[in-house]
Amino acid sequence: MSPRSTGCFRFTQLGDLPAYQFEAWQSQPHLVHAIFTRHGGVSRPPYATLNLSRAVGDDPSAVEHNHARIYQALDISRSQTVQCHLMHSSVVHVVTVQAAEPRLAPADGLVTAQPGVMLSMRFADCVPILLHDPQRRAVGLVHAGWRGTLQNVAAAAVRAMTENLGCAARDITALIGPSIGPCCYEVGTEVIQSFTTALPEMASSLLRRDGPRVYLDLWRANRQQLLAAGVGQVYNMELCTACRRDLFFSHRGDGGRTGRFGIVIGYRIGR
Ligand SMILES: [Zn+2]
Repeated sequence: MSPRSTGCFRFTQLGDLPAYQFEAWQSQPHLVHAIFTRHGGVSRPPYATLNLSRAVGDDPSAVEHNHARIYQALDISRSQTVQCHLMHSSVVHVVTVQAAEPRLAPADGLVTAQPGVMLSMRFADCVPILLHDPQRRAVGLVHAGWRGTLQNVAAAAVRAMTENLGCAARDITALIGPSIGPCCYEVGTEVIQSFTTALPEMASSLLRRDGPRVYLDLWRANRQQLLAAGVGQVYNMELCTACRRDLFFSHRGDGGRTGRFGIVIGYRIGR
């Protein structure tokens, strides 16, 4: 592993676990956030080592152990953490009650302004988007694969923050986390036709031809959708999971059998 800080993102150590953090958010009072890697856990290959998914065939006790490690690293409790099954949609939940039901109905976006609630999702190629409005102390987390991107799940999450949490879109900063990049995300006819039909004005800038191959740029698509939704600032880590399998799980890069790395964001209850 040869991790490095990248742009405004710092490679750091949270307790025993390596993780990335956004520099500007590190000093934000009470804000908790972390982009974990595949390292620091106890799972064995092909889930080595910090796999957080219970649905990929890994030993359940290893996954539980890994979850306990991230809670400890962030000094949060399991009961604060909110998760949902991901389904490649534009469904967004507004979480209003602290730890009412840690596992929500399926969705691909979670937003909250409730202190003490820690939003959590797992990734291996799909695009993670972290959202933060320091004015309202509101946060969001989005899972955008190609289907979610087509449905503009990023804008749906921003809308959930403006309509339900009183946020102004311009106050929101968005981070695009580690995910499969335009360098590696080769797509087939179904995806090409879907994007050309649904986003005719954007498709040519999102699809790159290289001989017989076509590559999709989900980073650019989500960045444009976030900016169109009025978000004030968008930062992209530009870390490709398929290029950096030494750091992250990659569904495509690892041939389908692999783990999921975790992202957490939320506010501690302030004093
Ligand atoms: Zn790549």
